[in-house]
Amino acid sequence: MTRLRQVKGPDDPAIREAAEILASGGLVAFPTETVYGLGADGLNPEAVARIYAAKGRPVTNPMILHVADVASAMPLVAQWPATAQTLAERYWPGPLTLVLPASEAVPAIVRADGPTVALRCPAHPVAQALIRAVGRPLAAPSANRSQHLSPTLAGHVASSLGEAVDLILDGGPTKAGLESTILDLSGLRPRILRPGPVTPAELEAIIGPLDIWEGMVEAGTRQEAPGMAERHYAPRARLELVARGAGLSSATGPVAYVGLGTLPALPPGVRGVLLPLDAKAVAARLYALLHELDDAGFARIVMERPPEGQAWLAVRDRLQRASAKEMA
Ligand code: AMP
Ligand code: MG
Repeated sequence: MTRLRQVKGPDDPAIREAAEILASGGLVAFPTETVYGLGADGLNPEAVARIYAAKGRPVTNPMILHVADVASAMPLVAQWPATAQTLAERYWPGPLTLVLPASEAVPAIVRADGPTVALRCPAHPVAQALIRAVGRPLAAPSANRSQHLSPTLAGHVASSLGEAVDLILDGGPTKAGLESTILDLSGLRPRILRPGPVTPAELEAIIGPLDIWEGMVEAGTRQEAPGMAERHYAPRARLELVARGAGLSSATGPVAYVGLGTLPALPPGVRGVLLPLDAKAVAARLYALLHELDDAGFARIVMERPPEGQAWLAVRDRLQRASAKEMA
C-alpha cells in the first residue's frame, strides 16, 4: 500500500521523515503551487533513475531541479545572466522555471545529457520546507505516469503511481493547477518552452522581447525539443475540442460536454459541465475535472476551445496536447 501522510504545514514531522527517505535515495511525492511533484535527490543519479522508471518517462526528457532560493541555484549553473537574476528576484519562489547552462555538479541523467539545466524555486510551504530539510536540489517532475494527466490532489498521485512512490505528502489541492512556465535563457534570445501561470507579456514587461517555441500550441508537429511530445497531459477518455458555443447534434455512449461561461442545449444523456470563462479558474480546475470524468467512466469528453489571447495560452497548450492523437 502506498503510504500517504497529511501535512499540516512546514513544521509537520512528516517532512522530516520525507527528507530522510529522499536523502537515502527514495522517492517522495509532494505538493507544489503548480501540481504534485515526484521528488528525488537531484544530485543522486540512481535516485533520479528511479523517477524515470516510476513514471515510464523517456530518458530523453530532462528534469527540473527544485531549489529553496537563488543562492542554492548558483552551484548548479555555469552562467547566471542578469536576466536570470532579475526574473528570480521578481518570481522566485513561484511558478517560473529557468533553463540555463549547467555546471558540472548537475548529473547527466537530470539534463538528459544536454548542456543545460532547468531550475525552479517552488513557493508552496511544504515544498520549501522539504527542500531545506534535505539540503539538496530535488528533481521533481509531475507525479504521474508519463503522458498522463498531472496530479493536483494527493489521491491522483496514489492512483497513477501507486507502489512506485515511497511516500506521498498530502497538502490538499494545488493552487495554480497547471505546470510552471519554462523560460530558456541559454540562447541568444529568451524563449518560452512551455506556457504556464506566468504569461509571456508579464515576462516581456521585465526583460524585453522573447520568442515562444513554435511547436507549442499548434497540433501536427513532431517532437522537436525534449519533453515537448505532442500528446501529453491526456485523460483516458477521448478529448475533443469544439468551437465555443457549438453544441452536439447527437451523442452515443457516456459523453461529457464542458462549456465555458455558458452551456448550449445538449442531447439527452450528455453530462454538461460548466466552467467559468476565466483562465486562472479553469487552469486551477482543469486536471481535477478531467480526472473526475475519467473516474466516472466517460469515454468521450467534448470541450469548448478556450478563447484566443495570452491569458488562455497555457490552458490552450495543455488542451491541445491532451486532445492530440496517440502516435503509433
Ligand atoms: P515535468 O517535469 O513533467 O513538469 O516536465 C518538465 C519539463 O521541463 C520537461 O518536459 C522539459 O520539457 C523541461 N525541461 C527540463 N529540463 C530542461 C532543459 N534542460 N532544457 C529544456 N527543457 C527542459
Ligand atoms: Mg509532467
